[in-house]
Amino acid sequence: MDSADDKVFELRSVDVRFGDTSALTNVELTIGNGERVAIIGPSGAGKSTLIALLNGTAVATKGQVRVLGCDYAHASPRRARATRRRIGTIHQRFDLVDQLRVVHNVNAGMLGTWPFWKAALSLLLPMNVDRVQSALDRVGISEKLHERTGDLSGGEQQRVAIARILLQQPSAILADEPVASLDPARGQEIMNLLIDLSMDAGVTLLASLHDVAMALASFDRVIGLRAGRIVFDKPRVDLTESEVDDLYAFEREPR
Ligand code: ADP
Repeated sequence: MDSADDKVFELRSVDVRFGDTSALTNVELTIGNGERVAIIGPSGAGKSTLIALLNGTAVATKGQVRVLGCDYAHASPRRARATRRRIGTIHQRFDLVDQLRVVHNVNAGMLGTWPFWKAALSLLLPMNVDRVQSALDRVGISEKLHERTGDLSGGEQQRVAIARILLQQPSAILADEPVASLDPARGQEIMNLLIDLSMDAGVTLLASLHDVAMALASFDRVIGLRAGRIVFDKPRVDLTESEVDDLYAFEREPR
């Protein structure tokens, strides 16, 4: 492993623009192995863009983005693909195929590594059933293997999405508003599950959250993003109430 590998994510002077809109401006960020980091900030602050940048679905207009030592913009397509495979992403809307049985949605975590014929065959003849079952056991929905995914509750569907990530065995998990579609009690359960899994596996976890209380309760390090800029990036214990208030203050420049 080269030294870049203990830095999972590294952004230097990064801007992302969409036409006339600046989604991120001059972002400097380093996140190391095994860290658990929350990103908070008002709607439109750039949280989703930051996550998309890190999983390679958005590109920087300026600056450098390194993920597990790989600069997506300059890496060979093969290396960029291999790096993306090591990053698991969980979305607010789960991103599952409702019509498929749970086993198939969880197996989608393997699609980046299986050849096409195997992926296609697995839809007819579920493969990997033991691994899928143990992932479902780990996320607390043991009995759902053959259920139609769309028939599950929101919380159960997010557990399926997390089981899919477990099969992928990523080096880092990105979670874009992972509990925003769930009621507070289910949301906290899912958040606790994500934190436990990342701790058990020593995997970096970076989550954007609109629920500040949850971010403060669950994460050691908190990044405040506003209008595309990092306003603070500090250990939770050093964060003051007024810093958080300022982050969300309407039309007032943050300190
Ligand atoms: P957040 O996740 O904090 O709500 P986003 O990253 O979604 O913020 O958006 C940041 C800014 O970039 C917003 O002004 C948004 O409208 C803009 N934006 C995001 N994605 C696109 C896109 N694909 N095309 C144009 N503008 C975009």
